[in-house]
Amino acid sequence: MSKKPASEPYPFAYFEDKIVPIEQAKVSVMTNALHYGIGIFGGIKVFETNKGMAIFRLDDHLRRLQDSVEALEFDYDFDHQKVKQIILSLARKNNVKGTTYIRPLIYRSDTNLSPHIKGNYELAIYMLPMSYYFDPNKGLKVMFSTWQRNSNKAIPPRTKATGGYLNSALAIHEANKAGFDSAIMLDKNSDVSEGAVMNLFIVKDLQIVTPSLDSDILEGITRRTVVEVAQELGISVVERKVKKQELYEADEVFFSGTAADITWCSHVDDIEISKQPGPITKKLREQFQALSTTKPELFTLIEDHAG
Ligand code: PMP
Repeated sequence: MSKKPASEPYPFAYFEDKIVPIEQAKVSVMTNALHYGIGIFGGIKVFETNKGMAIFRLDDHLRRLQDSVEALEFDYDFDHQKVKQIILSLARKNNVKGTTYIRPLIYRSDTNLSPHIKGNYELAIYMLPMSYYFDPNKGLKVMFSTWQRNSNKAIPPRTKATGGYLNSALAIHEANKAGFDSAIMLDKNSDVSEGAVMNLFIVKDLQIVTPSLDSDILEGITRRTVVEVAQELGISVVERKVKKQELYEADEVFFSGTAADITWCSHVDDIEISKQPGPITKKLREQFQALSTTKPELFTLIEDHAG
């Protein structure tokens, strides 16, 4: 398995309206969100840049969180600027150094027995050092899952709802059991959707293709960045329905995600796609890693907001 073991979190978390030592950020066993998956979360990354520690596309991540709260009609009054300042304060309090993952979670905190959307919600945030999630030197071996991606009419994957990740966990479990690193899921129409926790791209004849938003995917912020960067490089990108067979026949397959970065895929099922990262995947990865100098406007400096 190429996945790195989890590291120790930073010492402070945001919990029940204040910054507390991480050991104190604990919920009751009766918490409704634990039982019914009534929550939404984000995954945001902090990078070391030549101007200091900076958060990648923070406003985009916050907008996606807010969209999720609204789509699911959670009783949480999402204040973009307030959440942004909380994240920046917590990052400063933790004195984050090195690549760091930020996990905000908005969950239904009531302790009553049945599943309801109306109720009380809390915001919790913690931070974790994370240099890489998958070993960048190894290609991912993935399999098509026999589990179907939960559809936008069941548990909408576009919302990053906590409950929807049972679907991802089942797919990863099945893949790991069969000796693969991760899984690709098909949607209700048997079109390719996405990786269990990352978006998917194929390269064929110098063109990039990625499943369209109506393929029950999460619209990844890294996915959006890949599309923008590729277009700026003059590489054509098409968002459309993708068939399973197209992956077997692709010149390159790669994944994108905040934790996964841009990770190449060596095998899909028992088919070898490539022995090393393909030229387009490599180029996109290089461009992605250079973004803090080429597009500093995508980064929010942590120290800039001190005070
Ligand atoms: N799809 C799923 C299901 C995910 O959980 C993630 C990780 N957040 C992604 C795609 C990639 O999204 P992003 O680039 O915003 O991290």
